[in-house]
Amino acid sequence: MAASDMLKFTKVDQDYPTKRPAGERDDDFLEISRPFILEKAEAQSSRCSQCGVPFCQVHCPLHNNIPDWLRLTAEGRLQEAWEMAESTSTMPEICGRICPQDRLCEGNCVIEQSGHGAVTIGSVEKFVTENAWEQGWVKPISILRDRSHRSVGIIGAGPAGLTAAELLRRKGYKVTVYDRHDRGGGLLTYGIPGFKLEKYVVGRRLERLEASGIEFKYEFEVGTDATMDQLRSRHDAILIATGVYKARELQAPGVGSGGVIKALDYLIASNRKGFGDEVPGFDDGTFNAEGKRVVVIGGGDTAMDCVRTAVRQGATSVKCLYRRDRANMPGSAREVANAEEEGVEFVWLTSPAAFHDEGGQVSSVQGTRMKLGQPGPDGRREPEPGGEDFREDADLVIMALGFSPEDLPQMFGTPDLGVTRWGTLRADHKTMMTSLDGVFAAGDIVRGASLVVWAVRDGRDVAKTMHEYLLAMDAEEKAAA
Ligand SMILES: Cc1cc2nc3c(=O)[nH]c(=O)nc-3n(C[C@H](O)[C@H](O)[C@H](O)COP(=O)(O)OP(=O)(O)OC[C@H]3O[C@@H](n4cnc5c(N)ncnc54)[C@H](O)[C@@H]3O)c2cc1C
Ligand code: SF4
Repeated sequence: MAASDMLKFTKVDQDYPTKRPAGERDDDFLEISRPFILEKAEAQSSRCSQCGVPFCQVHCPLHNNIPDWLRLTAEGRLQEAWEMAESTSTMPEICGRICPQDRLCEGNCVIEQSGHGAVTIGSVEKFVTENAWEQGWVKPISILRDRSHRSVGIIGAGPAGLTAAELLRRKGYKVTVYDRHDRGGGLLTYGIPGFKLEKYVVGRRLERLEASGIEFKYEFEVGTDATMDQLRSRHDAILIATGVYKARELQAPGVGSGGVIKALDYLIASNRKGFGDEVPGFDDGTFNAEGKRVVVIGGGDTAMDCVRTAVRQGATSVKCLYRRDRANMPGSAREVANAEEEGVEFVWLTSPAAFHDEGGQVSSVQGTRMKLGQPGPDGRREPEPGGEDFREDADLVIMALGFSPEDLPQMFGTPDLGVTRWGTLRADHKTMMTSLDGVFAAGDIVRGASLVVWAVRDGRDVAKTMHEYLLAMDAEEKAAA
């Protein structure tokens, strides 16, 4: 295909990878989309209009060179397309799978605006990178020069920490990653379910990082297994990329009843089960939805992951209670549609006020129906009590109301670690350094609960500023010698 064969959006219809039918996918944890085949990836890429000012690229947090790798894909130059995709991203196949493209690259594609349907950018990105893995084009991390006299400690093996680890290792630094879990990946491993992101995809990235000489210290909780001061004495620079894990709670009567559980505890148990781990909390039924009437409270992506997990575990019914309506919910419209296809019922404009129990075990959720008022600061209309009551029977209630940061200054024994009024870490806008010299921060712990692609972006940015910091350290030492 020649370059002139682009701009086919008037002739070739938008086509996403085929989804497995709901009845086929609703009892396994495999990804729901079948992969693109070569011809389809080429044809879909050829729809790109090669804009002079590519808004897709502007609105991709990584500023991926999207029009260029679409053209290369359309021309069948897949290795070059892959090289271009990986030049800006440490995890293109992961972002291609789980970015909310409708709000980022695809939502800003010019041909979407003109009513033709966006180029299916995320699916092409996934195809190009998966193909590169299959062809053996994804090479071990190459180290530019030896800088192992300097050592970096990274707290958190999520996408922000792993991205920084890869880029700093490439520069030649000695890199140690600490994580309190027994596996790396952060929420990619223990939050996001396999039907959105199969675990081998994260595992092979981790193996590549390990093979490059990055040291991973798992089951190592900073604050318990070492203080921040101890870590600072071991390394020349530290990155805090610990994410946000304190579940927001609902203050309501009956919230402590058996069967009222937190979303992340539920998802971690399910993901662990998928790895074949022993999970007593799952085996004793606490975190298993099988045979239960499940109510999930919340309207974000975590709630969507919970409802769809409950379907796969064999719940008898799954309802999602959300205090706003469909148009004003934070979760991705694509995920709501997937959940509905799989049999989830959404009960809009409902706010729980109490949990009733029988013998200490939850039996129903009671609350108020809401109506929508004026838009709030985020543009979404604010819910207000509508007066009427509702009651939903439930054997398992999963609270998915969002996350806030843990108290890191207290946990780490560093009262002078600056935080914002939301508890996220205060980091210098340009250097990404916290109030502690040589201690940097990136990802959700700075932004609050966000997206994988933003964590990758932060990891990329902070690797650069940490490198500059370490170079300055070398220069200072040389001048003093
Ligand atoms: C259920 C769920 C579904 C999501 N779905 C999507 C999605 O579809 N698309 C998307 O783009 N984003 C999604 N997100 C958001 C996304 O996962 C996060 O924005 C992203 O993972 C943040 O990356 P991070 O590296 O900052 O932190 P994390 O991924 O949270 O990683 C932080 C790591 O730090 C470790 N850690 C924490 N404290 C310590 C300590 N004291 N010592 C040692 N280690 C520590 C943790 O164990 C963890 O491994 C989802 C989030 C959740 C909860
Ligand atoms: S990283 Fe996300 S936003 Fe950027 S091109 Fe890929 S799918 Fe789109």
